[in-house]
Order: sequence, then structure tokens, then C-alpha cells
Amino acid sequence: MAKHGTDISKRIRNIPAGTSVESFLIHGRHFTEKWDFRHHIIPPQSSSVTYRLDKTERGARGFQEYASGNAHKSKPIYIYDRLDEPTRGMLEDELAAFEGGDFCVAFSTGMSAIAAALGVMLNAGDEVVAHKTLYGCTYSLLTNWYPRLNIGHTFLDIRDLNALRAAITDKTRAVYFESPVNPTLELIDIAAVRKVVDEVNAKREPTRQVYIIVDNTFATPFCQRPLELGAHVVVHSLTKNIGGFGTDMGGAVIGPRELEGQVLLYRKDFGAALAPKSAWPILVYGLPTLPLRLRQQMHTAYEVARYLQGHPKVSRVVYPGLDNYPQLALAKQQMRTPDGEFAPGNMIYFETAEVDANQPENNIKVVDWIAQHAYTLTLAVSLGQLRTLIENPGAMTHAAVPEEQRLEGGIAPNGIRLSIGVEPAADIIRDLDAALALAK
Ligand SMILES: *Cc1c(COP(=O)(O)O)cnc(C)c1O
Repeated sequence: MAKHGTDISKRIRNIPAGTSVESFLIHGRHFTEKWDFRHHIIPPQSSSVTYRLDKTERGARGFQEYASGNAHKSKPIYIYDRLDEPTRGMLEDELAAFEGGDFCVAFSTGMSAIAAALGVMLNAGDEVVAHKTLYGCTYSLLTNWYPRLNIGHTFLDIRDLNALRAAITDKTRAVYFESPVNPTLELIDIAAVRKVVDEVNAKREPTRQVYIIVDNTFATPFCQRPLELGAHVVVHSLTKNIGGFGTDMGGAVIGPRELEGQVLLYRKDFGAALAPKSAWPILVYGLPTLPLRLRQQMHTAYEVARYLQGHPKVSRVVYPGLDNYPQLALAKQQMRTPDGEFAPGNMIYFETAEVDANQPENNIKVVDWIAQHAYTLTLAVSLGQLRTLIENPGAMTHAAVPEEQRLEGGIAPNGIRLSIGVEPAADIIRDLDAALALAK
């Protein structure tokens, strides 16, 4: 039985009480109006841009129901791929149930999902309050594009709740953050942020409520469910661990019913719907294997983090599963599998020991050796794949963030991000050991 409040049978009809989330991710809904699971074991990779409407009335009803917030109550009327279609729809249903949201709308990339979640909340003159360290392109969206629409931003350390309280103004409509933060892996206490936002919302009109949006890409719903902890909306890059095999891009917005229509209309008009051909591998390969992959990744990550911690050429290691992790109590409270096991994820951040941290000679030597000679580590951006990936965030994924903000956010020039794959730890440690032996 689910110990930690995730009883999937309460969210999905026709699933026996007590069924684990892991079995749900393998079997999905046995009965869906979208596909006949009684006869087909694998759902279709549908590819039909448009749909035959047998009467004008059916087309009219389809358009009326679309984005009305009531479409989930009746059989879907398919009209056109960008509006709704069955393969993507099945993935959306599964993701919504997994995260515990009322709806999921899937996008072609994580960035289009993030732009949509913020886009439905923010009008000209509004502001977003965000954590100071963000995925590079999210940072660029807020600082390069939103000012053109007269949408402001305030960056701060959201772990400081008094600073958060002070940063929220009459113009604020969204509080946005990642947890764990990319790439530094600090955590933000989602329930505590919710308390602050509730105080603000109690004094506001229903049309001016502040929403908490959490980018849950690093943890995935297997390791953390922000909606259960108090977030209003979750966004994902499905490109990462949820997709898991590195073959397709995707994104998702998951949230409360009241926002469903707006997010669907946003996708209809701005485009960037997830292609059914990309939804299919995420539905058929990604989600069913996510728990298996993450368990193995976490097992390996813990061993690798412990190895790094004991290495003289490594000055700092951050992994939420290590005993000396600064926010261990919060990690244990927040990062849990649906069955309640501690689940600190597969990402590690560490810093190489340097004579001068601003001229990180060891860092470059280590990463370049790995790029050219390592067998189980690959120099590449992205994360959450079968193979272990390594990168230097300051020089690569977070290069769009100005140096001053990078340092302020804890992204050091000698920092290295590891996305641990499913390899046994000993093979990764062999490669790391050979690379670190070059450090002076
Ligand atoms: C990769 C990533 C994104 C963007 O997702 P894409 O699918 O590449 O558009 C957003 N947030 C985080 C934390 C990511 O790692």
C-alpha cells in the first residue's frame, strides 16, 4: 500500500485499490475512450493530422468542448492534431495521474511548456518572482523576452522566506523555481513557500491569485510530487529522465482544472504541441521504465558521490542523498517515491580542487580527459539518460546567465554536473579516478 499519500486508484477509475504507481506506469488505464486496451497491448503511434467529422454538429460540438474545461467528462472529439489527439492524450492522462494534477498538456519541448505555464498567468505589467538560479533558457526567457512584453522579474534566494515575502508585490502573479535547483542541487521547501503565498492570496481577488510553478525535471514525479507538497503547477522537460532514452524532446504542464482551458488555448494558438511520434516512446518506453531506471541511477549516484567525497582533488560534492548534504532533513521530507522511500535523484554536482578557482585548470583537464578517453562518461548537455553525462554548467548549460549571477547562484567556474546513468558505479568510478589522477 502507498505509505506516502499516493494511492493511484483514487485518481484513476478501474484500478484495484492499493495498486502501486509503478504498475500503473506499465499498464496505464485499461479502459480509455482513446484506445482499446482490451485487444491491443501497446497503444498506437497515431499519425493523423486531421479527423473525419461525420456531421457539422459533431465538429461544432468538438470546437465548443475544446478547452472548455469539460472535455474530460465526455468521449473526446478529435478535430486536428494541434488541438488534441490520442497518443499524446494517453501520455497526458498518465502524467496527470502520476503527478497528481487535474490535467496535463504536453508540448514539443520543456521550454515551450515553461513558456506556456508562465504565458497563461502573466499579462503586461505583471511580475514573476523566481529563484536566483534557473535553467539557462528559463533565465533568458525572463530576462531577454519578457521585458519586451513589460513583464518584470525579481530574482532572489527563495530559501529565505522573509525575502520571498518582501519580494512579492501587487504585480506578482507567479513564483517560479526548480527543486532540486539546476545545477547546484539546493532544495526549496515547497510547503513553506505555499504558506507564504497563501498569506498573500488570502488578501487578493480570485482573479489576481499568485501561482507557484515548480520545474520538476530534475526529480521527476517518481522522486518528488510538488503538487502534493503545495505547488499549483508543475512543468517538465520530458526530454530528460521521463523520456529517459535520449531519443525525443517533450515538455508538460500539469495543474489544476481552472487552468486547463487556458493552457490548451495557449498551445492551440502558439503551437508547439508534442508530436504524437515523440509522445509514443515516452508513453511506451519512458514512463514504464522510469522507476527501474531511477532506482539503478540512484544506487549508482550514491556510490559515485561517496567516492568523490573522499577524493583529495575534489573540494565539494553536492548530492541530496549524502549524509553531509546541508538540507538533508528537507530532502528526506520532500524527495520520496510514491511508496514513501527516500529518493534523492540521479544528479551530482561537484567542484574540482584548484589553485585559483577562477582559472580552473584541473576542472578543464579532468573534463577534457573524460571527453576524449572515458568509456562510461560522455561530455554532453542534457540529463536523465541510460548513459552517464558530464558537463561544466558555467561554460555550457548556464552560459546564458551573466557571470556575476552565476557566481551569486553558486555555479562556480570549477563546477561539474554529473547525470548518472544506469551503469554500475565501479565503471564510472574507474573513469573518474583516471581523470582526477591528472589533477595537480
Ligand atoms: C532541459 C531542461 C529544461 C528545458 O527542456 P527542453 O526539453 O530542453 O526544452 C528546463 N528545465 C530544466 C531543469 C531542464 O533540465
